[in-house]
Amino acid sequence: MTVHLPWAQIRTVLLDMDGTLLDLRFDNHFWRELAPRRYAERHGLSLAQAQAEVKTRTQVVEGTLNWYCLDYWSRELALDIIAIKREIAHLIAVHPHVLTFLQALGDAGQRIILVTNAHPHSLALKMEKTRLAGYFDAMICAHDLGLVKEQPEFWPCLQDIEPFDPATTLLVDDNPAILHTARAFGIAHLVTVLQPDSSAPPHLPGEFPAIHHFSELLPIG
Ligand SMILES: [Mg+2]
Repeated sequence: MTVHLPWAQIRTVLLDMDGTLLDLRFDNHFWRELAPRRYAERHGLSLAQAQAEVKTRTQVVEGTLNWYCLDYWSRELALDIIAIKREIAHLIAVHPHVLTFLQALGDAGQRIILVTNAHPHSLALKMEKTRLAGYFDAMICAHDLGLVKEQPEFWPCLQDIEPFDPATTLLVDDNPAILHTARAFGIAHLVTVLQPDSSAPPHLPGEFPAIHHFSELLPIG
């Protein structure tokens, strides 16, 4: 499968982190298994009770800044979320062909910006483990803007601090809600990822051009 992008018309590449460049297995395992287990231990609940409670609490704030905020979850669950994430840091992994893709973007002179809803502490942990930071011209956290990518207001605010022309910009993101707000803002080139979590089955292709791996966007130029 190859997605033919008009690279000559692209100047800026905005890349999501979790699920797009990095395997969502880490985050899913954390929220579905490890955090409920620690919550059950802390509050004297069965694992099933804790999983149900964590799921309910996360659904309430899904798609908001709190959903991505480690301080919020540390307070809400009375757990040291960062310390618990570190316990499974060995699961943090870069998706196949990402390094080749980032190298090719750099060689082609594209401006490469990581744009993530992840909390700054999550970003720091992921960069520590993956050593990807050097590939980006800038790394932008939703928390710096006080808005998440799902919010239409996010995109003009991003543009204020990191100027880009939507007509010559590519966004790759595994979240369809985010691709929708980006499209409404005018970002011309949008691509999604079919298998954000390597331990889960791939999604079916939908309305946005989709890749299994970043090799499908090559060559550049
Ligand atoms: Mg993502």
